[in-house]
Parts: sequence; C-alpha cells; structure tokens
Amino acid sequence: MSLSAALPSSVHAPLPVLGREVLVPLVTGGEVPYAALDYAASAPALQRVWDDVAAYAPYYGSVHRGAGHLSQLSTDLFEQSRATVAEFLGCRPGDQVVFTRSTTDSLNLLAAAVPAGTNVFVFETEHHASLLPWRNAEVTYLGAPRTPGEAVATLRRALAAGVADGPALVCVTGASNVTGEIWPVRELAAAAHAHGARIVLDAAQLAPHHPVDIADLDVDWVAFSGHKLYAPFGSGVLAGRADWLTEAEPYLAGGGASRRVARRTDGGVDVDWHTTVARHEAGSPNVIGAYAIASACRALTEAGFDRLVEREQALLARVRAGLAQVPEVKVLSLFGDDAPRVGVVSFVVEGWNSSNFAAALSAEYGIGVRDGLFCAHPLVRTLLGAGGGEPGECGAPEAAPGDPALNAIRVSFGVGTPDEHVERFVDAVRELVAEGAKWRYRTEGGRCVPERDRG
Ligand code: PMP
Repeated sequence: MSLSAALPSSVHAPLPVLGREVLVPLVTGGEVPYAALDYAASAPALQRVWDDVAAYAPYYGSVHRGAGHLSQLSTDLFEQSRATVAEFLGCRPGDQVVFTRSTTDSLNLLAAAVPAGTNVFVFETEHHASLLPWRNAEVTYLGAPRTPGEAVATLRRALAAGVADGPALVCVTGASNVTGEIWPVRELAAAAHAHGARIVLDAAQLAPHHPVDIADLDVDWVAFSGHKLYAPFGSGVLAGRADWLTEAEPYLAGGGASRRVARRTDGGVDVDWHTTVARHEAGSPNVIGAYAIASACRALTEAGFDRLVEREQALLARVRAGLAQVPEVKVLSLFGDDAPRVGVVSFVVEGWNSSNFAAALSAEYGIGVRDGLFCAHPLVRTLLGAGGGEPGECGAPEAAPGDPALNAIRVSFGVGTPDEHVERFVDAVRELVAEGAKWRYRTEGGRCVPERDRG
C-alpha cells in the first residue's frame, strides 16, 4: 500500500476525507486509488476533523479538576463540544449530552438506566446494538414490518397490549444499516408517547446522512457513533432526557462520577454521586474524541446538510440504477423501492458466494465493501429468506440455484465519496457478473482471500 499526492482528479466529493490518495494493489497487477465504500461500518475521517484535532493536540490537557492553563482550556473545549453536539441534535433545554464510546455503549448505558420493571419494545429488524442491551427489562420483540405504516401499526398494537402502568421504552433505528431505509421515526415517537412510552433513536446510520433533530422528531434520546460521522476517535453520544439518567446508578462507578466519597465509621464507604452529566462519565473522558465529534458536527452543518443529502441521493440513485441493470443482482429491501433511504445498499448476486464477490471487488478493483450479516442477523436472514446455515467455502457457489444466499454484500458511501468510486463499483459489478472473477479465491481464517497465483 502506498501514498500518492498525485490523485486530485478522482476527488470531487463535497467534503474531503482522509485516505482519498491511498493506492492499493490489485491482484491482477498495478495499483488504483482505494474506493472506500464501507461507510456504514466506519466512515473515513473528514480532513477538517483531522486538522482540527491536530491543531488542538499541542494544547491537550487533563479535563475537569486540573489547575493548569491547558487543563482549563481542554475543559472548556470539552464542554463546548458538548454544547456543539446539543445544537447539532436540536436538543431541548434540560436535555443531557453524555459522551460515550459508541452507539453500542450509549444504548447499553440507557439500558442500565431504565427504571426497574420497564417494558422495552424493539423490532427484530434492529442492529444487535439496539436489539440486545435490554437485559434488565421485559422485552417485546416486534416482527419485521413490510411498510413504514405497518411498523407504526405494529408498535401501536403492541403498546396497547403490552404497557401496563409501568415505564415503557421503544428503541428504533433511524436508518437501517442493511437496507439504508429510513424508518418513520416521528410517527413511531407519536405512537410511543400516545401510550405513555418513551423512545430512543438509534441514529448510528441516520446522523451521518441526514439532519437529526431530537425536538422536531420528538424522541426522548438519540444515540450515535463518532466513527460513522467522520470522527474516528473512539467517541459516541447519548443525548436526551435527564430524568432517567439522573435517577439511575452511575453507568461506571469511579472518579468523575462521584462528588464526595467518605469512609463510614462502620468501615464502609458513603458515595454522593453527581446528578449532572458527569454521573455517567466516570474516568478520564475521551476529550479528543468529543472534540472530533463536535468538529464533524460543525463541518456538516457549515457545508449545508441539505446540499450533502442531495448529493448523496444522486450517488444512491446511480448505484441503484446500476444494480437494477444486472438481473442477477437482488437488492435487499424491507419497505420496497419507493422508501426513502440513505447511502447504504445490500444485495446478493445469483450464483455467487457473497464473500467471494466482495473479495473480488477488493482484489480486482480496489473497492472496499462488506459481506456478511452486518450485526443484524434476524433482519438479513428474513430478507434473504434463509435459515440459520453457515455460508459455504469461498470459491464454491453460495447455494444451489433457487436456494437462498446465506449472507449478503453491502455498499455504503457518504460525503467523502467521489463519483468515480460509485462508477467503478457499478462497472465492477456488471463486469464480474458478466465475465466472472479473473482470479481464484479460497477461505483462510474465515475470510475469502485471493489464491497466491491465478490458478
Ligand atoms: N446501530 C446501527 C444501526 C449500526 O449500524 C451500528 C454499527 N454498525 C450500531 C448501532 C453500533 O455502532 P457502534 O459499533 O459504533 O457501537
């Protein structure tokens, strides 16, 4: 892998990202600029985020109780970052913005904070980060809806049947990490509130692609990850209502969350926990991560999010039109062709092992996509019509003709994607299907990799 400074012609994305000049080797010989089309997993860092972090780095210091100048400066920047995120999300007065490690961490924090006896309602189509954290609650799993309207009706029915007097929480994704389809969040929030339930929005895939306004959507909490929002420094966010968070035990016990700790005469320890956002941020916080998220929020806002959405929709239309021209390709969808969606598309190719297809896109075209079940196993299996089988050895056909594929391929993109990456992807799919792979592949360590020689 090498770096080249001489590739500006392939870069026409609205916001520059790191990695746009990285060349990767092709198994067939030569090098091409890497086409990063796996934004839904982790998006490349915005150049602006990187520059902001680099500019701040010499001034980095311990936050909160440090007496030195740089500690105070870092504390100010950390708290300003919180305010920037609150503004980016349209938080209401009194909402808290907790810095976490990721969406998974944010949802686990909320799961640990729900009052005892809470009924949680979650669609089985969710990412595992939304599906699994509710270990201390009564969970109702809702079946896969086939239209946005059906999602709302299903939730209404379940809430009517399932909410007794106790607290209730709905957890829903804003945009699917599998289909890219946008969920009817405002309507689901209205349904939840009509039944006295609360709602948390998993915005891991929505926030990088679409403005998210907590007050306008009328959701109680929003969770997202920095590394999908072009800020890969290990930080995430849980923003929203303070009450459940303030009443809950601290997520982590330790310094920063505790206001006063004293030995009792009986030998024990008395702890007075903070009732502010510090309650759930024990330990030294990830200041750079928080600062990077705030920088990304500013960059997206200043670029004009609506303009970015428009551009991404044009790329999405190109990808979908390109795939639609290849009859062997089946795009996975819950809500159908007309559903609004973000730049995430999953598909299978008849007669192809998905891992083999993804490996060939990488090795022969320099395109990075993802294959598998995308941490949303129930949803992908439903969409594939597959049982629980394991994908076959790479190189062998995925399934007998007519049998469902066992995993899928996902392409995803965003504000750093030049047109050329999408064009190359569409051409590569067409060529691979028409002509087959130019190389042979084998399974090694669970991954599909090119054989040492063409074979
Ligand atoms: N929710 C959705 C919809 C996601 O796509 C992801 C990441 N793929 C997550 C939650 C979890 O995000 P993280 O891995 O950053 O915790």
